[in-house]
Amino acid sequence: MTGEFELIRDYFADIGGDLSGSVQLSVGDDCAVITPPAHQDLVVSIDTMVEGVHFPFGTSGDRVASRLLGAALSDLAAMAASPAFFTLALTLPDTDPVWLKAFSTRLAELARQYGVQLVGGDTTRGPLTLSVQVHGWTPAGKALLRSGARPGDRIFVTGTLGDSRGGLETLLNNIHGEQVPYLQHRFFCPEPRLDTALLIAPFATAAIDISDGLLADLNHILEASQVGAMLNPGELPISHELHHWVGEAQSRQWALSGGEDFELCFTAPALVEPKLAWALRDHNVAVTCIGQISETRGIVLAEDGQVLPVTPQGYNHFSGTGNLR
Ligand code: ADP
Ligand code: MG
Repeated sequence: MTGEFELIRDYFADIGGDLSGSVQLSVGDDCAVITPPAHQDLVVSIDTMVEGVHFPFGTSGDRVASRLLGAALSDLAAMAASPAFFTLALTLPDTDPVWLKAFSTRLAELARQYGVQLVGGDTTRGPLTLSVQVHGWTPAGKALLRSGARPGDRIFVTGTLGDSRGGLETLLNNIHGEQVPYLQHRFFCPEPRLDTALLIAPFATAAIDISDGLLADLNHILEASQVGAMLNPGELPISHELHHWVGEAQSRQWALSGGEDFELCFTAPALVEPKLAWALRDHNVAVTCIGQISETRGIVLAEDGQVLPVTPQGYNHFSGTGNLR
């Protein structure tokens, strides 16, 4: 194995540059030194990915990098935080220069794009495992929590749902076809909805990012806010690619419980809907209303005069095919 210090110097010493202005000391000493901006809260989250669990064996370094940083930054988006810096714990089976170059190059591109600097980490030998801890700022007291949803609030999601689950399916079953590149891109390159989060934050009452599936993650908002929800499955935003590949029933099921979409689900009072629409008028990410918050606990799907209760993970009452995750 190349020396640990050479490896850090060659691949990880200069990722993201000094973009936040708050980083006084970065990679190289025992710790990084950060000066927090005045009147800001520090928002922190960590994500771990294990080869063979979160991504298939043999996945290229660039794909692992985008999946890793995208998923981690998505948690900051869910809190309406602005990314500032991150640390990286790397466990590598060996020092494959091709893999490391692809990984660190993509990591650097994304760090620049999202304005986060790599300020430190840890490097060890073992089965390929990667942890990223992201740090961001919100104006003091303004982090967007899961606990603020109120009866009557509208429920919104960003982007389209179910694509990532579709992409995983094409990988696991070695499927080829016209829709496959788009779906696999959605699986490997989640786009953290950081800009969207800042636009919706003044109006939103609660938010979460969709990592376990819409039903499961919406349920976290419902539990934290002590409310329920009514969803219209006909309003679920589904991509043409997914719909074309698996049809309506399957794409709806993956949209509801597929997971790893890294889109945002948030609530906002019905009264602010016009202001929200105005704030998003020039924004290039779709925001779709899919239902509303109710006093009655639990989640029901309502469509064409039919009302069907669902379990957060299951969706099985509706389709009869059960949980795929
Ligand atoms: P220590 O033994 O004092 O914990 P290390 O030898 O683990 O320090 O790391 C030396 C420096 O390199 C530290 O500044 C650490 O934050 C940084 N570092 C180690 N691994 C990584 C990595 N994978 N990415 C970025 N920085 C790293
Ligand atoms: Mg030390």
